[in-house]
Amino acid sequence: MTAMLEVDDLRVAYGTILAVKGISFRVEQGQVVTLIGGNGAGKTTTLRTLSGLLKPAGGQIRFKGRRIDGTPAHKIVELGLAHSPEGRHIFPRMTIEENLLLGAYLRRDGAGVGRDIQRAYDLFPVLGERRKQAAGTLSGGEQQMLAMGRALMSQPELLMLDEPSMGLSPIMMQKIMETVAELKAAGTTILLVEQNAQAALTLADRGYVLETGRIVLEDHGQALLGNDQVRKAYLGED
Ligand code: ATP
Repeated sequence: MTAMLEVDDLRVAYGTILAVKGISFRVEQGQVVTLIGGNGAGKTTTLRTLSGLLKPAGGQIRFKGRRIDGTPAHKIVELGLAHSPEGRHIFPRMTIEENLLLGAYLRRDGAGVGRDIQRAYDLFPVLGERRKQAAGTLSGGEQQMLAMGRALMSQPELLMLDEPSMGLSPIMMQKIMETVAELKAAGTTILLVEQNAQAALTLADRGYVLETGRIVLEDHGQALLGNDQVRKAYLGED
């Protein structure tokens, strides 16, 4: 069966420096797949390349069987691949509802957009309560909810989340991870980049460990949670 996403020997460079050095991985429909690894491992670079924001130096990317390396970013969104970026990048002076509508800018089905805004409010009630307020007034965790809600507004078949738990309190982090689990239960396919390896591997069907631009380990999420190397390097155990 064709995977939803197939990445084969992907290389990405900044100038002459290779940040991603030939990585291969797959995401099957309905799966949560996580890329974990420390600072500078190449996780964000990988996601930015998948969404067309960076051009690969080599390798292939296939989404639903079709090559997308070299495809412009807006076309990739249209094909069904959405990206909730690291650092959220919400528009602080626009209202919460306006931020959500931006995620739907390619859609022509007004009624469907209205339904999906409501779905975002069902998923994150605080966004609905404050829909007319400037997004900059939200807390960090609420802004993360908004970034996820906005990515969902393009009706993605594959949702990429870059460090959704970054900088959040433990309670907020738990809420975000519960939402990822809810989306998975509803059948959304998710590629999750996280420094919080424990949370990510607990949810993931499959995990890949990145170190300085290379995949050094891959397995089922649960198996990686029990892996000695992972426990020492990423779960803070001796
Ligand atoms: P983090 O969690 O810190 O974001 P990461 O795993 O997402 O880490 P990347 O941000 O993808 O890592 O960075 C991979 C490598 O590429 C690092 O060595 C980083 O310094 C380098 N890098 C990232 N962005 C740029 C850039 N715009 N110009 C030059 N080098 C960059």
